[in-house]
Amino acid sequence: MAQRAEQLKFDVIVVGAGMAGSSAAAIAARAGLKVALIERGQTPGGKNYFGGAVYTHALQEIYPDFFDRKPPLERPVTEAGFWFLTKDGATRLNVQGGHLDSQPIDAYVALRAKFDNWWAEQAQKEGALLIPKTVVVDFLRDETGRVNGVQADRPQGEVYAPVTILCEGVNNLLTQKLGLIDHDLAPSRVALGVKQLISMPADTINTRFGFPDKTHGLAVSVVGDVSLGLPGLGFIYTGEEFLSVGLGINLDVLAEYRLKPYEILKRYLSHPAIAPLVAGGKLMEYGAHLIPEGGWHDMPKLFTDGVLVAGDAAAMVNALHWEGTNMAIVAGKLAAEAAIQAHRSKDFSAKSLSQYKDALQHRFVLRDLWQYRNFSRFLHNHPTFMNVYPTFVNETFGRFFTAYGKPKKQLFKEILGSLTSRRPLYRAAGDVISFARAMMGW
Ligand SMILES: Cc1cc2nc3c(=O)[nH]c(=O)nc-3n(C[C@H](O)[C@H](O)[C@H](O)COP(=O)(O)OP(=O)(O)OC[C@H]3O[C@@H](n4cnc5c(N)ncnc54)[C@H](O)[C@@H]3O)c2cc1C
Repeated sequence: MAQRAEQLKFDVIVVGAGMAGSSAAAIAARAGLKVALIERGQTPGGKNYFGGAVYTHALQEIYPDFFDRKPPLERPVTEAGFWFLTKDGATRLNVQGGHLDSQPIDAYVALRAKFDNWWAEQAQKEGALLIPKTVVVDFLRDETGRVNGVQADRPQGEVYAPVTILCEGVNNLLTQKLGLIDHDLAPSRVALGVKQLISMPADTINTRFGFPDKTHGLAVSVVGDVSLGLPGLGFIYTGEEFLSVGLGINLDVLAEYRLKPYEILKRYLSHPAIAPLVAGGKLMEYGAHLIPEGGWHDMPKLFTDGVLVAGDAAAMVNALHWEGTNMAIVAGKLAAEAAIQAHRSKDFSAKSLSQYKDALQHRFVLRDLWQYRNFSRFLHNHPTFMNVYPTFVNETFGRFFTAYGKPKKQLFKEILGSLTSRRPLYRAAGDVISFARAMMGW
């Protein structure tokens, strides 16, 4: 047994080979540390699911030669926007060209099953040992009670290391087990993301979205009727030969209104503005995954003696911007750097590992999570942004573009009337101020 424990001794254990875990493992292994990267799935990414797009600024922070490594990416996002859906119409606010079309393109659509596997392979190339099909179920402790390893769900599943980086994703059972957070995710602060992958020929996608070829692609967020006017956000991403169409909606809303996620998605797919885009496509895959939207308020303590937490396990998601993978990657890297420093100083105490949080505070990760800390509560308290305003925007532009031959004073009176019939002016002004406060973190 003692001999066995000796065999499974590492410098760093990383739990979870997702975006955060494989980044942490790569950085630690590159510094010459012996790293175990433990993943419960058959292969990394096998259980992972997102919208979605990955961001090159974060990917290149781990691998400056990222593009030379031939990553399995889909289309670059050269067009992005917000679509406001009403029951029977849509206002599309799309941006293309300029920043979106300058090299390197900042966002690429990806499929996690392919991408995470490749991402973990890069960590293996740096020297990390991937241990798949293995669930970490508990911690091991030394005689002083400090964590000095993890227990996996298999006979003789003890794996030892003076520092463990938890990158276990949204369902952060180990983080909870360690007492780093005293509550499970509240249904009002966690969304269920559901989506369909719909396959169709590249040419059909190009024609429907107006792209010259598959070096152009789109990512849009959709609000309004997509979630029946309830707090939720839809999305559409274009892959090379598929569309990814889905939405995230809070669990408490699903429970309160007894909504079935698949039915809301079906309804969204048959909306008159969406149905023609997906028509004739073949359903490749349907899936669901949780999104921790509590951000700052649901963040566990990020370190303790011998342990660090990164990514979704630490609620590092900015739902409005669909930023999660980049936060996870950067946090994984900074956690690994703290582990490397701890090895240099031979000090694995919480005090030593606290430099991880200091480093995060200098990056967009903690800055943005702090700034947007009240955004999810704001959406809950202001359902008007999901029902009244998308309809108002649609009606306003509808009136504007049909006001030919009409005195324009009358047009603006009508627009004002269409707002005040829905929301008194002083309340609308209050909504704008509350929106600005939630966005700016005031
Ligand atoms: C519908 C949807 C759309 C999204 N769209 C976007 C987007 O467009 N862009 C973006 O940046 N982000 C998006 N996100 C968020 C993004 O997917 C996450 O923030 C990101 O994947 C977090 O990475 P992670 O490494 O922390 O966790 P994960 O990627 O979830 O990885 C966690 C890993 O840990 C493993 N694991 C868990 N527990 C154990 C255990 N006990 N033992 C061993 N292994 C374990 C899991 O199998 C998994 O591989 C979206 C999320 C959803 C659900």
